[in-house]
Amino acid sequence: DNLKTYFPLKKGFFGQPSGHVKAVDGVSFRLKQGETLGIVGESGCGKSTTGRSILRLVEPSDGSVRFGGEELIDMPQARLREMRSQMQIIFQDPYASLNPRLTVSSILAEALRVGEPQSDVRHLRQMVMELLAMVGLNPSHADRYPHEFSGGQRQRIGIARAIAVKPKLIVADEPVSALDVSIQAQILNLLQDLQEELGLTYLFISHDLGVIRHISDRIAVMYLGRIVEITDKKRLFAEPLHPYTQALMSAVPVPNPNQKKERIVLGGDVPSPANPPTGCAFHPRCRHAMDICRRVRPVEMAVAHDHMVACHLYGADERSE
Ligand code: SF4
Ligand code: MG
Repeated sequence: DNLKTYFPLKKGFFGQPSGHVKAVDGVSFRLKQGETLGIVGESGCGKSTTGRSILRLVEPSDGSVRFGGEELIDMPQARLREMRSQMQIIFQDPYASLNPRLTVSSILAEALRVGEPQSDVRHLRQMVMELLAMVGLNPSHADRYPHEFSGGQRQRIGIARAIAVKPKLIVADEPVSALDVSIQAQILNLLQDLQEELGLTYLFISHDLGVIRHISDRIAVMYLGRIVEITDKKRLFAEPLHPYTQALMSAVPVPNPNQKKERIVLGGDVPSPANPPTGCAFHPRCRHAMDICRRVRPVEMAVAHDHMVACHLYGADERSE
């Protein structure tokens, strides 16, 4: 709810005024149990920081995050540590987060011991084998080191480690972006199978609309620290409303080549979140920009059940100065 994560800028060498990078600037959404919410947007739009802020891997500046009825934002560290096993994260590069000096079985046993500190070695070993089988890795490779696996296999190890503590929520931050396209689908399918089997809820972050489309039930589109549109997948692809969403969609190849569609080319780069444009942050790149867009920040508005958009083109009556 209205989550904000600002990072202070260091004072420049020549004494430029310091300020803040508003990486996440008032983000609100709900995550339903058992669903996959995809967050899509260009790099630097605050997707990763949103995911990390929710888990308090970075400290939010303001707002509220409730998980199963408990407020996480001001939760004492001790309680947060207990909660952590319910919320796991999978990274783009699992290799960077896997200890290269430990075998896969040791890495997984370490994670398992968090949930079951009393377990003896034989029981742990048994559970490691079960985990490996669950993520489609050969249990006979349990005593190999991370570098002995391929990228896709390493992501399977990262997933095994995340599910070892029996989480309810997994934040997946670009988990397939570093993998070959043929391997991407395998990992996405594995995540979907595990979701069904274990009743997991996913917050799935990606810059790739094709990947987001494959995995998501609902999709949130982020631009410069804010969600500009959020709705279920079918609706978003059938009827994207926000001009930024429309531009993103127009770059996705259509299944039927006879169905011509206009490619909307976005001019310019994403502006700096340290110095965002006034009003609607998208206005310098928007072909529908009106005078009000430069002055007034559009509020998030429900245009239909479970379809929110933040743009002055919709709900003109409710504009507020
Ligand atoms: Fe474009 Fe204005 Fe809508 Fe922003 S508020 S997306 S500038 S039309
Ligand atoms: Mg990122």
